[in-house]
Amino acid sequence: MRKLISAILSALIAICAGGAAASASISESAVRRAWKDVTNIAGMEALPLFIKEDAAANAWVEAGKSVTVTTGLMELLQREEEIFGVLSHEAGHAKLKHYESKVGQSVGVGIASILIGKATKNNSLADLAVGIGLNLATAGFSREMEVEADDFAVDLAIDGGHDPTGIYTALERLSLQGGRLEPSGFNSHPPDERRLLHVKNRILERAPETKFPEVDPPEKAKQR
Ligand SMILES: [Zn+2]
Repeated sequence: MRKLISAILSALIAICAGGAAASASISESAVRRAWKDVTNIAGMEALPLFIKEDAAANAWVEAGKSVTVTTGLMELLQREEEIFGVLSHEAGHAKLKHYESKVGQSVGVGIASILIGKATKNNSLADLAVGIGLNLATAGFSREMEVEADDFAVDLAIDGGHDPTGIYTALERLSLQGGRLEPSGFNSHPPDERRLLHVKNRILERAPETKFPEVDPPEKAKQR
């Protein structure tokens, strides 16, 4: 009888653990704590932070005025240092004024969207507005800017006494899942392998003793 009870108990524990794994790995309070930390260490204004209900793992900083993190990203990431790393990358775009240097480019993309929208006619005005807004907010980061934002994230972690592998394993998880940061990042982000190698070398240059944690592919991580 006692054996049966303990079997039921351990089954219950297993179910509860499974349920917990299905919810976000990084809590909203952890995201907010990380953002506060990032802005403190970077000596920048704590821009408003939004959590977006969206299964696609992503994060972006909008025209240097706010930062958004999706619930999909919170589920994908496994360590608080990883969300710290991603938010540091986004802070890098804002702090390094990448938005200001690409204004001309973004307006160009916006106008292109209007022309395409008029040509297809099926587009509602709302769709068009969303498209233009997205373009203005996120289009046009060059590969160089992405590398700069990654370097910024590594340096901020080391200068602030954080684990610099956070940005590395966060990018690794995104890569394994086939995702990337920022909606329009497909052309502008450096290829994953080169990007990861650059980040790893940057970390090892500044902190040669760093050990990099193993990252499970997403399916394996989900089964836990
Ligand atoms: Zn970026």
